[in-house]
Amino acid sequence: MSEVDYGQVTGMIHSTESFGSVDGPGIRFIIFMQGCKMRCQYCHNPDTWELETNQSTVRTVSDVLQEAMQYKHFWGDKGGITVSGGEAMLQLDFITALFIEAKKHGIHTTLDTCGFTYRPTDSYHAKLDQLLAVTDLVLLDLKEIDPEQHKIVTRQPNTNILLFARYLSDKGIPVWIRHVLVPGLTDFDEHLERLGAFVATLKNVDKFEILPYHTMGEFKWRELGIPYTLAGVKPPSKERVQNAKDIMKTESYTEYMRRVHHH
Ligand code: SF4
Repeated sequence: MSEVDYGQVTGMIHSTESFGSVDGPGIRFIIFMQGCKMRCQYCHNPDTWELETNQSTVRTVSDVLQEAMQYKHFWGDKGGITVSGGEAMLQLDFITALFIEAKKHGIHTTLDTCGFTYRPTDSYHAKLDQLLAVTDLVLLDLKEIDPEQHKIVTRQPNTNILLFARYLSDKGIPVWIRHVLVPGLTDFDEHLERLGAFVATLKNVDKFEILPYHTMGEFKWRELGIPYTLAGVKPPSKERVQNAKDIMKTESYTEYMRRVHHH
């Protein structure tokens, strides 16, 4: 990509949200990218799975950025933009161009990803490094540490996802690790212990969060006519959420980072 062209790079966009408050620090403009190769049983956005649908729109970087900038005065020192999905990294060229342009305006950039598109090759690293150079924060979902269970949860292996987590750590890119806790699917003490132990080896974790499963995405599956395998599964109890936090010591990460940032 030559410098002059970044604003004209196009992406398949599912939708945008003007006032996101959970996908990164502060108030944020969220861009939901179309396309995902995972098939998480609890996905909230199954309508983003296909890369091209008659609902998605082709938009340029400048067009999306212009829309985002209308909300700039709500962002304060912490907020900014987040690309989410779907899986944003499927459209690496677009999000790289978007972040490059955003950085020219001093905008805080967050990438919300499952990491599945990562490949441990030099050619992939060369492209990825361009993105990471303009990425302030990565929200990385670790859906299951156990390789076999990961396939049950997402229909895909977690090998490259864990390598991606390691790569981000080696590069010192700040991350928030997130684990969606689903009863009977991603809530096994032994797996939580292994996940906690893995996260403890990463050097770049600003936050480690448990996201309790909720059923708000279920209606979309029904609308799309896809059988919802978690039908009838309830959100985890407070005790199970606390249990997961204790096993993985998620609070101590957040506490530790708070102390570090205050000094
Ligand atoms: S990675 Fe995200 S968008 Fe893709 S299936 Fe899983 S939850 Fe849905």
